[in-house]
Amino acid sequence: MNYQINVTRSSMPTYEEYCEEIKELWDSHWLTNMGTKHKQFQAELERYLDVKHVTLYTNGHLALENVIAAMNFPKGSEVITTPFTFASTTHAIVRNGLVPIFCDINEYDYTIDADKIESLITENTVAVVPVHVYGNICNIEKIRNIADKHGLKVIYDAAHAFGVTYNGISAANFGDASMFSFHATKVFNTIEGGAVCFSDDGMVQVLNDMKNFGIRGPESCAYVGGNAKMSEFQAAMGICNLRHINTEFEKRKAAAERYEHMLSGIKGIKLCKAQAGVKPNYAYFPVVFDGYKYTRDEVYDKLKKENIIARKYFYPLTNSFECYKSFPTAGENKTPTAKYIADRVLTLPMYADLSIDDVDRICYIILS
Ligand SMILES: *Cc1c(COP(=O)(O)O)cnc(C)c1O
Repeated sequence: MNYQINVTRSSMPTYEEYCEEIKELWDSHWLTNMGTKHKQFQAELERYLDVKHVTLYTNGHLALENVIAAMNFPKGSEVITTPFTFASTTHAIVRNGLVPIFCDINEYDYTIDADKIESLITENTVAVVPVHVYGNICNIEKIRNIADKHGLKVIYDAAHAFGVTYNGISAANFGDASMFSFHATKVFNTIEGGAVCFSDDGMVQVLNDMKNFGIRGPESCAYVGGNAKMSEFQAAMGICNLRHINTEFEKRKAAAERYEHMLSGIKGIKLCKAQAGVKPNYAYFPVVFDGYKYTRDEVYDKLKKENIIARKYFYPLTNSFECYKSFPTAGENKTPTAKYIADRVLTLPMYADLSIDDVDRICYIILS
């Protein structure tokens, strides 16, 4: 039996590099609550992501939940979003007492179909939460125009878009705020971790307070906040991994190009086209099986038999989740393109250390 290949494999610095980075924590005994590693990492990210403000979190989900909470929308307000995403996006909306209104996706890059947003707007709509799914950039111009016209906030779930630029502008700069995830399975990781990026100076203190119980000073509590702070150990991991981010992208690019070489031009296999003006991060390698000699599920099973674990990202759609069954807006049939893609898509293994030989082996199994 061959060794197991998973859909992703976490990138790590060497053991020595990480130990060197955390050494001073043994001197300072300062392990969390915005210490020196946290400050350094935040500044490095502001530079790398080319954005005015970065607030760090213990994970991406709480980053998204917190930034939505910081917008202070009236409970029961409607938020237009995509069902073709990880559970986190929809949960972050619902856990804030807001109502997710599911908009369909487009069939080209699987992001929210900006042409369908406006018809979903009601007097209760307060925001749009689109997702740069697989690192594909949403139609940011059209979304901005719609939001401006109707006075809506735009909060991007940019969990997949670390390091992606569009017309030279970092994905951290779109909308009123963008959330990134630095989970172990993502392109760039801090073990667990996340961030909110934004340009509004007024949001800095609100977000910093909210991730620390809403505490403003030793004797003042401004908000009913939770605890979502990034620790010094997570920040240290981020500092190390950021040093190697360009190598990370180069290695992923080599794997992605090999997949494209092996799988493009085959009847029934649809690959994501490169987006105009976008510098990609090769976060995922989604393939849509539509009229291929095997169905998506058959390809998944064939790979699994060979100890290769692909993932059906994103199936099922969040609007078909059991926990949303009672929601009037639920139902995957209301978003037919998203359903069509979710039923046919498979994300193939993709990570920096994936060898070209392994890519070939995966493709031969798919093609045989
Ligand atoms: C990973 C992910 C999240 C959540 O991030 P965590 O850091 O795991 O909490 C949110 N949205 C999307 C689209 C994701 O892929």
